[in-house]
Amino acid sequence: MSFLTLENVSHHYFTKKSLTKALDDISFSLNEGEFLSLVGPSGCGKSTILSIISGIMAQTQGKVLLNGKPVNEFNDAIGYMLQQDYLFPWKTIIDNILLGPKIQNDITPDIRQKASEFLAEVGLVNVEEAYPESLSGGMRQRAALVRTLVSDPKVLLLDEPFSALDYQTKLNLEDLVHKLLRQYHKTAVLVTHDIGEAISMSDRILVMEAKPGRILKTFEVPLELRNEVPFLVRRHPKYQPLFDKVWAALNGQHVKHGTG
Ligand code: ADP
Ligand code: MG
Repeated sequence: MSFLTLENVSHHYFTKKSLTKALDDISFSLNEGEFLSLVGPSGCGKSTILSIISGIMAQTQGKVLLNGKPVNEFNDAIGYMLQQDYLFPWKTIIDNILLGPKIQNDITPDIRQKASEFLAEVGLVNVEEAYPESLSGGMRQRAALVRTLVSDPKVLLLDEPFSALDYQTKLNLEDLVHKLLRQYHKTAVLVTHDIGEAISMSDRILVMEAKPGRILKTFEVPLELRNEVPFLVRRHPKYQPLFDKVWAALNGQHVKHGTG
């Protein structure tokens, strides 16, 4: 059964001066444990889709169902990871990680133990009492990942989480996030500008177009690629043909608009 479903979702932003149709008739569904990527030009509504799935914003039209129920704003089944890590500089790494459970009044020895285990798993040792400023960008993003995982969300929303990192760090983190999300059978939606990242991490890719934001094309990633570590996907014989198709779909948009 489908776990996360968007049914004919449209969204308008109203301001005093303007009305923007950000999303037009978006439908897709994911099974539990599936990994979807959204690619498309800036302004095509990728972040809007994530905000609507998370429940922090209500769509103008259509339905969003998680496990058969409409999402609402108090939804701890959803975890977010963004380009910026949003770690509080005045809190230690462990206090940052346990902030969610603390707000929920839910810091048990069990959760603390889980936090330590996740930290070890992402390769962060001896940093629990450190402050974010003493960590590199990649380490901070690992800490942010642990903070997200520790509340055990069912769905992870990843909005360009690697785009501020240097290339080497980004590739390493792709492998790590891919491994952890598979291991814990998390459902994920990733927004990225990097076609290679989309192919190497996901089961399916939606290419979107802007004004209004629509799904232009859907690509299933071949099974052989899905079961591979992201780093190795990029040298698999089935990688380049898919890259070219996604590229053509994205680029067709420029050609169509006369700029390509
Ligand atoms: P993306 O993440 O793909 O770059 P967004 O979801 O951020 O796209 O934005 C989609 C469209 O909605 C854009 O045209 C953007 O300008 C508009 N938009 C986004 N947020 C707001 C807002 N809070 N108020 C008005 N318009 C917005
Ligand atoms: Mg965005």
